[in-house]
Amino acid sequence: MKAHDGMYIGGAWRPAAGAGTIAVVNPANEQVIAHVPAGTAEDVDAAVRAARAAFPAWAATPPAERAARLAALRDVLAARQDEIAETITEELGAPEQFARQVQAGLPVLVTGSYAELVASYPFEEKLGNSTVLLEPVGVVGAITPWNYPLHQIVAKVAPALAAGCTVVLKPAEDTPLTAQLFAEAVDEAGLPAGVFNLVTGLGPVAGQALAEHEGVDLVSFTGSTAVGRRIGAIAGAAVKRVALELGGKSANVILPSADLAKAVEVGLANALSNSGQRCSALTRVLVHRDQYDEAVAHAARAVAKYTPGGRIGPLVNAKQLERVRGYIAKGVEEGARIVVGGAEAPLDQGYYVSPTIFADVTPEMTIAQEEIFGPVVVFLRYEDEDDALRIANATVYGLAGAVWAGDEAEAVAFARRMEAGQVDINGGRFNPLAPFGGYKQSGVGRELGPHGLAEFLQTKALQF
Ligand code: NAP
Ligand code: MG
Repeated sequence: MKAHDGMYIGGAWRPAAGAGTIAVVNPANEQVIAHVPAGTAEDVDAAVRAARAAFPAWAATPPAERAARLAALRDVLAARQDEIAETITEELGAPEQFARQVQAGLPVLVTGSYAELVASYPFEEKLGNSTVLLEPVGVVGAITPWNYPLHQIVAKVAPALAAGCTVVLKPAEDTPLTAQLFAEAVDEAGLPAGVFNLVTGLGPVAGQALAEHEGVDLVSFTGSTAVGRRIGAIAGAAVKRVALELGGKSANVILPSADLAKAVEVGLANALSNSGQRCSALTRVLVHRDQYDEAVAHAARAVAKYTPGGRIGPLVNAKQLERVRGYIAKGVEEGARIVVGGAEAPLDQGYYVSPTIFADVTPEMTIAQEEIFGPVVVFLRYEDEDDALRIANATVYGLAGAVWAGDEAEAVAFARRMEAGQVDINGGRFNPLAPFGGYKQSGVGRELGPHGLAEFLQTKALQF
């Protein structure tokens, strides 16, 4: 794969300050496919300076002109969708069709949504004798994970640019090539120099330097709760704004009146997509005890079409593979029963795990509490609706969920009592305008749509 050997700063590719590099590995065959520079605090400083220098003019650019640049960016991302998908398949291992339609397709939709939103967004409001101005926060430090490499970037950069902020991005070390393609797209779309800047590098080095930099006004982070906690502490100490999109352990609640087979199948498709490497995955399936055996048996049949190397790609790296295997072993150790799958390698190369279904899982087990980030789904029994609610809400997370019932109103009544930022009712479709983010330890703030744009604004009241 071709890779840039520099950083995209101030509208040009510039040599990195240090000599360190990061090897990019294809997780399907464990081969090194490219090297990118490992950024240091010096690169981060240069990028933040470029973003600061570009901020006043970009903030003062009329929203209609910012909309036009975002529309141009959307068009470049659409024109280069195949190349982006191939890159994501190479560095993440995403199966080709999924890479094209979702990994490369969704960012086109989201960028387009911000081109439209910014053109009509109310950046001014009247409140009594005041006019309230919604102004861009300033320079944004964006730190993103590898699981949806382009979507995670776009979900921060598009609303930040729409708001009038400028950005420095530190992408995940596992998927820097997609980030480089995004920088190329920004350049091709004619965004002014310094409005977007890219520093590839390691989290504890480049990521930390970005979060700590005093020229950064808002840190937007997506990733693990452990790192999110540190970023939150850094931002708190510096009194800068922070947005955190962290983990999840989302419940798929199947009420007794639901279409059981459909609820199980749609839930599995959600939980297994991207090899389970998604923060909103519906990894806990809650079934009434009278329907439990039937649900588990149906899941075991339904999972057969998810073959490793086919519909199921590898995990992103060897560390994640060991992590997921460790959780599978832990599940067995704590008394859960493997219905299908297991920790054995299904193929002789690549970081693959077989889709694994656990039954006889109880709410306090590790595999029912911690985010596994792999194709592992646990089935829990409940006695009645109150018991289901108690189990659904009994984790530190609160990112997403799903409720199935024969009657939509019944599902909605249950969803209202769930501690989660997004709940799908009877298989409700993904909406790129819906606020995405968590209750409890799943995070702070919201991404996507108008709520995602509001994160990058601050308010000023003028009195008349
Ligand atoms: P992570 O370490 O939290 O990585 C997320 C981003 O933060 C990456 O860009 C990472 O850089 C950076 N980072 C790491 N340490 C940092 C630090 N001290 N200061 C600033 N930035 C730092 O997550 P991971 O190691 O890739 O995955 C571990 C687990 O996190 C997964 O198993 C999963 O449970 C969870 N996760 C959640 C999401 C989500 O969407 N909510 C996404 C990915 C992972 P590097 O790439 O160099 O580490
Ligand atoms: Mg990491």
